[in-house]
Amino acid sequence: MDTELKSFTEIEALNAKIASLESRNAVLHQLLYACSEGIFVADDTLKLTRINPAFTQITGYAESDLPSLSLADLYPDLVESHGTCQDDGSVDLRDFEGEMLSTRPDGLGRPVHLRLTKFCLPSGTSLHLGHLWDISEIRQKEALIEFNANHDSLTGLVNRNVLLSLLAEEIVRNPKADTKIGVVIVDLDNFKRINDEISYSTGDRILYEVSQRLVKTVRSADILGRTGGDEFAVILPGIKQAEDIVDFSRRVLNCLKVPFIIEGRTVHLAASIGISMYPDNGSDPLKLIGKADLALVESKTETKNTFSFYSDRNSPEPGDRRHLEEALRRALETESLGVHYQPIVDIASGLMVGSEALARWHDVELGDISPAQFIPLAEETGLIDELGAWVFKTACRQTGVWNRKGLAHGRVSINCSTLQFIQDGFVEKIESTIRNAGIVPEFIGIEITESCIVENVERSVDILGRLKALGIRISVDDFGTGYSSLAYLKRFPIDILKIDQSFVRDTDMHPSDRNIISAIIAMAHGMGIRVIAEGVETRDQLEFLKSEGCDYVQGFLFSRAIPSDDLARYIAAMT
Ligand code: C2E
Ligand code: MG
Ligand code: MG
Repeated sequence: MDTELKSFTEIEALNAKIASLESRNAVLHQLLYACSEGIFVADDTLKLTRINPAFTQITGYAESDLPSLSLADLYPDLVESHGTCQDDGSVDLRDFEGEMLSTRPDGLGRPVHLRLTKFCLPSGTSLHLGHLWDISEIRQKEALIEFNANHDSLTGLVNRNVLLSLLAEEIVRNPKADTKIGVVIVDLDNFKRINDEISYSTGDRILYEVSQRLVKTVRSADILGRTGGDEFAVILPGIKQAEDIVDFSRRVLNCLKVPFIIEGRTVHLAASIGISMYPDNGSDPLKLIGKADLALVESKTETKNTFSFYSDRNSPEPGDRRHLEEALRRALETESLGVHYQPIVDIASGLMVGSEALARWHDVELGDISPAQFIPLAEETGLIDELGAWVFKTACRQTGVWNRKGLAHGRVSINCSTLQFIQDGFVEKIESTIRNAGIVPEFIGIEITESCIVENVERSVDILGRLKALGIRISVDDFGTGYSSLAYLKRFPIDILKIDQSFVRDTDMHPSDRNIISAIIAMAHGMGIRVIAEGVETRDQLEFLKSEGCDYVQGFLFSRAIPSDDLARYIAAMT
């Protein structure tokens, strides 16, 4: 009786175990079936033995393909690089995680993120568990961002940044200056009138037509770009004599003289041209463009509809620059620069969450000088270290003052130039400035540009890591104007992306800028990065950014950069 009872209890327990195993299997099956990510199991010969519906959807291979489907069919490169064939016919495949191209039965490749893990069974054999998800949409968005960052959306021509780097490449390719390189800037005369008097859409149509005419005028080796609203630039490599550029310029002026027929309306147009040349006018791409710009000013002020070569008399007095540099040196010595603060606003609540510290310079003699002018000057003359350190110290001290007054000012975000960032002891300097101001690093943020990171990868990983460990928030400034590779930025500890104001400004007019903004926001969020839109000036821009889920905004719609006392009043009025 006793034994019977015992075996009965055992049977009960066994039944319960079987039932629980069955239900666990059923749950696992359900999970596998419902999972939106592809899952597969492969045996030690790499044959696939189990897949789920998401796998079929992503790779195009179904259950019916299974008996003969091998991982080597799907990921030949991976098997080649990570696998070792054994004597018994099995393949030893090392674990892998990363991006792969899935080869589909239709021959098309689809980018996936693949995670492959090897399991050893008690029987001694091993199997591979794979987990993959489709990243083609992410790649498409990245490609869109990258294309738009490098191309003008209206004409499809390359933009100023690309043009500059292509010019640099041409110069490197021609170190002995065996031939000349022409830099030609074409600017339409009185174009603003078309926008103002007819319409923006007609203006856009004409700009597109102009680009098409220019495409037909340049040779295949020439590089044509749109560098501004109504400004185009052409790089002419392999020029033997200046007369060739004269011929080209005449052809351009003539081709633009032919009237444009847009929506039944005849529009007459003319252009002015400024020219500089490598090596005659230097070998720095930025300066060559600048000199072509100066020559353009001469064409415009002369008769218009003409071309001018750069000559020394176009250049600003060398004394002017030296004068400015001296004035900046003095301003630093006497601490007569200033720092203003521009509120950064949370888009959902409308509340200020922090501010950006922006350097200001008012000279008694020269008047207000814009940072866009004196920051590059400080960078060129080496004064940026001192200037940057001064702004940093001033902003930290101000934060301390606000703290003591109990103001809810949030984080203060400070711009940092590449030259400061790559300097030895940068992190230590920042840390001691913060401590000396009697504040904690959580009140401070740093803004650096993407190019600063991309051009100093090793250092950036180290420096950004250390800044972040201190509690400082890291923003990437002016995003969209440089490399614009979010995938690349993934390896750096970035908290915030600031979309450059040029995109925000054009959201009213250009749908493509809206697409870029949507894509940047979606991708940044996918990577856990928050987004600030810069230069928000209108309600329409704000509404659009809100609808796209942008986190924060900054711009004249809320406030300009204002003195510290005014910001204190701004905060007090808000709370
Ligand atoms: P940024 O860091 O991108 O700063 C934003 C700029 O946009 C500021 O110009 C700001 O006044 C302007 N801005 C803000 N909202 C609007 C708007 O709604 N519409 C328009 N049109 N503009 C708006 P700002 O102060 O002239 O500074 C220009 C650049 O100079 C800054 O660009 C930054 O790159 C640099 N800069 C300024 N202060 C410093 C500094 O202390 N250190 C360094 N390294 N760079 C600085
Ligand atoms: Mg900034
Ligand atoms: Mg910016």
